[in-house]
Amino acid sequence: MPQRPYIVGNWKMHGMRAMLSEARAIDRAAQRHMKVEVAIAPPYTLIHPVHREAEQIGVGAQDCHYEEDGAHTGDISAGMVADAGAKFVILGHSERRENHGESDKLINAKAEAALAAGLRVILCCGESAKTREAGKAVDFVTEQLKASLPASAKDLEDVHERITIAYEPIWAIGTGNSATIDDIAQMHAAIRALLFEMYGSEKGPEIRILYGGSVKPENASEILGTPEVGGALVGGASLTADSFMSIALAA
Ligand code: PGA
Repeated sequence: MPQRPYIVGNWKMHGMRAMLSEARAIDRAAQRHMKVEVAIAPPYTLIHPVHREAEQIGVGAQDCHYEEDGAHTGDISAGMVADAGAKFVILGHSERRENHGESDKLINAKAEAALAAGLRVILCCGESAKTREAGKAVDFVTEQLKASLPASAKDLEDVHERITIAYEPIWAIGTGNSATIDDIAQMHAAIRALLFEMYGSEKGPEIRILYGGSVKPENASEILGTPEVGGALVGGASLTADSFMSIALAA
């Protein structure tokens, strides 16, 4: 059975407690539109309050550590975010790759830790403008995914629920310029082919592939109508219930 479109808000480093009212508004609207699966990833500090106050939407984290616990000052484990109410974790976002030097190997270890803690994983991938200009975008993203997808996912009955891919070309994030529909369709088809290869003809087609990078109410319906686009990972436009839910309603 095809899964519902998945619309995920990545709040990044935005969100004081005052923003809980937006989460509540998103939750109320999501209850009226059950054909779309709506989720938000607030900063760590808001995971538990959002989990408590917004019952319908899924709440997730934007990162986690690869170890269960230990002497890692300032870090947060997958088990801790799950304990706070998170159902999923976004891993491999390009801002973490760039700002924190995260490698595919590290992201792979984090993904294994997240699955072991019972979390769903949204694994981000995406090429830079330079890689795209060199005509190497598809190869780059394929290699990135091969190196970061957790090996243990293959044994999961519900891999299609536990793993979601988010294709986010770096040059489209926060710039207002999303990728073209042709570029999105081509990349999502390539990712789908890889998922077939890795997870077989039964599970491969069921894993959702989100697009992210300047998704907004004005372009959501065209992007979400593109073949193999199973939803969106939304940054800036997820910060108010109005714009975020207009995107969800376009799905
Ligand atoms: P954006 O961010 O929607 O603000 O471009 C998307 C993301 O980084 O997940």
